[in-house]
Parts: sequence; structure tokens; C-alpha cells
Amino acid sequence: MTLFPDMFEPVFSQSILGRAQEKGLLEMHTHQIRAYTKNKQMQVDDYPYGGGMGMVMFPQPIADCFRAVCDQVGARPHLIYMSPQGRPLTQKRACELAQLPALCVLCGHYEGVDERVLDALVDEQISIGDYVLTGGEIPAMALVDCVSRMVPGVLADEVCFTEESHFASLLEYPQYTRPAVWEGREVPEILLSGHHAHIARWRREQSLERTRRLRPDMLAQADLSEQDKVFLAELDKE
Ligand code: SAM
Repeated sequence: MTLFPDMFEPVFSQSILGRAQEKGLLEMHTHQIRAYTKNKQMQVDDYPYGGGMGMVMFPQPIADCFRAVCDQVGARPHLIYMSPQGRPLTQKRACELAQLPALCVLCGHYEGVDERVLDALVDEQISIGDYVLTGGEIPAMALVDCVSRMVPGVLADEVCFTEESHFASLLEYPQYTRPAVWEGREVPEILLSGHHAHIARWRREQSLERTRRLRPDMLAQADLSEQDKVFLAELDKE
């Protein structure tokens, strides 16, 4: 639900999300909130009570738009409001949301939406980071993209996301492709060895080392084997 539905089509029609919709794995619809106004000017926002800068989106068009979405879906979808005041988006939450049959995302604009909409309708508020954007459209695209790629069949294999950064509270190991030497820089020899067990261990250690170096806060949540702990203890000694 947005005041700028045209922003979505160019993004959602491309690449993996575009193909997933063609295959019928995902269905996405944009809903123009302005189409539900009841005033002649098609106004959707008004001055804030109590004064202050900017405009606030008023409740009626949003509520009517959501009712239309519920009718279209045939059930009440989980309603998420994209907001800098929401809980930060995480891979874990996106994974849980991917299990739900339908999601509806409300994009705010201007100063945001009347608080009573949040009280009456919204199930969850999600932020994409501690900064403020002009509208919820780009955050909604980030959320939809992240959730969609965990819907079964959207990616070629579950491994595509289970081994990626953040899924298991670790950052991914470094990736290389052809050529084996580029401008004097060589691909690590182990990756050319064909020894799958050694490659898997090397990748795991790379993943542990970079998480420790770049995002030590994540390690506390990671599921570590005894071998992983020994490896990290060795790094701590260096
Ligand atoms: N006045 C609001 C505040 O201070 O919390 C900010 C409003 S912001 C200019 C307009 C809209 O952009 C919000 O209603 C929200 O939908 C969206 N938005 C901005 N930053 C966001 C973020 N970091 N994460 C999610 N949505 C965001």
C-alpha cells in the first residue's frame, strides 16, 4: 500500500523476483492508497494536530485500502508498516515472514501515518536501519526482496541462502570466479584443488575469521562446533 505504486514495477519485474512471479511462486500487487480517498481533491494527508512541520497521512484511505487488500487476499494478511521506529530487519525475521501465506506492507510518506492507524491495524513495524528516508517504498522493496528469496523454489537451492551472510549469524566466506589470475591476483590455491572437504573447512574458517574481524557482535549468536571454537581460540592468541 503506497502513494507511489509505479516505483515498484521496475524493481519487482526484474531478475530473480521477476522470474519467481512468472513461475507462479510469488504474487505481488501494489495498491494506490490515494484511490481510496473520499474527498474531491484526492487528498491523503493533512497538517499535524499540535503544529509542526510536514504532513501526516490520515487514516481513512489507508484503512479502506487495507480492507480492499483483505478482500482480494480472502483473509487478513499480516500488516507491516515500514518505519524508522520499527524493529531492525533481520534475516531471521525475514525467514519467519517467508512462512506466512500473505503479507501486506504499508509505505508511509511525508511525516508518516496517523498513530491511530498503527494502533488499530498494524501488526508489526520494521525498520531497514537507523536513518530516515523520504518514504517507505525503498524499505518495502528491501523487505519484499529479502523475504521473497527465502520462499521455496525462488532460489535454485536452499544452500543459496543458508550459507550466506547472516543466515547462521556468520558472514559468508570470500567468493572467486574465473580467471584464476586477474591482474596478478591469484585465486586461493585450495579452491582449485577439487578437495571438497578441505574446501568446506577453508570456507568455514574464512567465514569465522571475517565475522570475528568485521562483526564480532554476531559470533555470540552463531552455532559453533568444537573445531570452530578451537580455531577462534587460536586466532585470539595471535
Ligand atoms: N517522521 C517520521 C519519524 O521521525 O519517525 C519519519 C517519516 S519518514 C520521512 C517517511 C516514511 O518513510 C515513514 O513513514 C516510513 O514509512 C519510511 N521510512 C523512512 N525511513 C525508514 C527506515 N529507516 N526504515 C523503514 N521505513 C522508513
